[in-house]
Amino acid sequence: MRKKLVVGNWKMNGSRAANAVLLAGLREAGPWTADVAVCVPFPYITETALALTGTAVGFGAQDCSAHEQGAYTGEVSSAMLADLGCRYAIVGHSERRAYHQESDQLVADKAKAALAHGITPIVCVGETLAEREAGQTEQVVKRQLAAVIHTLTHCIGEIVLAYEPVWAIGTGLTATPEQAQAVHAVLRTQLHAATQKSDAMRLLYGGSMKADNAAALLAQPDIDGGLIGGASLKATDFGAICRAA
Ligand code: PGA
Repeated sequence: MRKKLVVGNWKMNGSRAANAVLLAGLREAGPWTADVAVCVPFPYITETALALTGTAVGFGAQDCSAHEQGAYTGEVSSAMLADLGCRYAIVGHSERRAYHQESDQLVADKAKAALAHGITPIVCVGETLAEREAGQTEQVVKRQLAAVIHTLTHCIGEIVLAYEPVWAIGTGLTATPEQAQAVHAVLRTQLHAATQKSDAMRLLYGGSMKADNAAALLAQPDIDGGLIGGASLKATDFGAICRAA
């Protein structure tokens, strides 16, 4: 049995005042039987760590550099994230692939850098609407995952994988439980060929997961949790999804 994992992705939202309210709300809403974490903007990691002290809620970042250290202005290394106590780093989110031209290989290199510092990368894959309509969903997610498998080799079993169809992110359009499960099964099969740990690996679904659709998605055999954007910004909404898990 895989323990469910629910991760909030705050994206570029929040302020010190708003975060204090949200994090206090999370303290009150828990504990949950699922593993729960929040991935917050870099400047707020330290205060998030403080606010969650004594709870089981983990925290992490939304990206990390593929480089170790040095002349990379604006980048944040996974060593720094580890120094702050981060458990997770999201890598390859579709917003970074689209707006920052992150390639499959760069995403894989970021995942490798995170693992090197004991941080679990939450690697995101997913197709656009055009790719889905062209019947390329499988091909796209397999290509994205293949780069990570190739780069991490025997460490691939240490990642968390998130399937996030781009057309479902922030749009209110959720993949049906059957659509999501079908892709998760493809990804699990691909992992199975790469590692003996595939059955223990957690595959999250992301894309307009909300309190009212979470249970049906999480009931699918290969959906082991959620990566939650919009609904992670209110403690009651996020708490309800964590409860459903
Ligand atoms: P959403 O975002 O829940 O707002 O659709 C999910 C994500 O982008 O991780």
